[in-house]
Amino acid sequence: MILPGSTLGVLGGGQLGRMFAQAAQSLGYRVHVFDPAADCPASAIANRTFTADYRNLEELTTFARSCAVVTYEFENIPVEPLWKIESLTHLLPHSSVLETCQNRLREKTWLKKNGFPHVPFAEVEVNDDLAGTARRVGLPCVVKTADFGYDGKGQKKATDEVSLAAAVQAFAGQRAVVERFIDFKCELSAIVARSAAGIARVFPIGENIHTKHILDFSIVPARVSAAVAREAEALAMAIAERMELVGLLAVELFLTDRGELLVNELAPRPHNSGHWSLDGGRTSQFEQHVRAICGLPLGDPGVREPSVMVNILGDTWIVPETGKVLTPDWSVILNHPRAKLHLYGKQEPRVGRKMGHFTVTDDTADAALETARALKAQLGAGRG
Ligand code: AMP
Repeated sequence: MILPGSTLGVLGGGQLGRMFAQAAQSLGYRVHVFDPAADCPASAIANRTFTADYRNLEELTTFARSCAVVTYEFENIPVEPLWKIESLTHLLPHSSVLETCQNRLREKTWLKKNGFPHVPFAEVEVNDDLAGTARRVGLPCVVKTADFGYDGKGQKKATDEVSLAAAVQAFAGQRAVVERFIDFKCELSAIVARSAAGIARVFPIGENIHTKHILDFSIVPARVSAAVAREAEALAMAIAERMELVGLLAVELFLTDRGELLVNELAPRPHNSGHWSLDGGRTSQFEQHVRAICGLPLGDPGVREPSVMVNILGDTWIVPETGKVLTPDWSVILNHPRAKLHLYGKQEPRVGRKMGHFTVTDDTADAALETARALKAQLGAGRG
């Protein structure tokens, strides 16, 4: 067991690293952050920030030696430096988990090999016949890069021969995955924590609404039947078990019109769709992550109050008519008794950039969603 007072390391200093650091410090840990950018959001919180490239083995060595355990807040970290860290201290979740989850092709192949339900896909090697593969999978389909994609980056939908030709051009010289386009009823996520002793606890299922491929609203508990929620929870637990996960894992799912659950993506870290737990949960996902990697007893992942989380993107700063940048009127959120504002301390608002989020809690998920939508609209309108 790694006890409070010890130092925890996190690779990546974005908002997830920042909220991880806040949770760790609440429990009495020290936190070291490693990020290529000196002014990353977590650096304002960290006891020490290491500013270097992820391939800088000298800095990584000093960082790893200063930490009782190291974790990460995103998947796009080269895996070789992680082996170095693993030779010096604990790295959790293990590098093998990261290796599987950071590449779509490896992830999907792993799901298929282990018999977990997934979106039908085909692999396209560099210079392979992408158009032919897409026709075989069937149109409409979604073409995604095998490596390093998130928030809809590196993916294109092909509905007809024209959009297929555009996808062929966009993915020239890259390895890709072609997926069948799923006309889903809704998107769900299950976040599971698992300890080294093999004890797993899953957070209540979230229902996620995306806009332009970026998470917009997370509604917890998801408005699905108890049977679907139980199945999603069981699926996440089984995946964590099979991966021998120690830490946190988010499982993104599609619920099809036929009531079938298909895994879309895995992320071995805290997830945007789990931010509601900071205000509406008995234990936040960040605290649970700390507990899991330190070998502390896992917390109760239950819902205290139905919650809706809304992402605040850089778009909120930008007045559409003029393109002028104006700080939103935060009093819209701050004046509401059941809303909580979280900002990540990022200086520069950009379109699509996650600057913060807010959570609304209420007696029912529907009531929280109604308020959340109204507050979001007012926040946008409040820029003058
Ligand atoms: P991803 O980067 O794979 O998580 O995709 C981002 C979002 O694009 C998902 O949350 C879905 O809303 C949408 N999407 C991705 N893959 C598919 C698919 N095969 N069928 C339908 N929608 C998809």
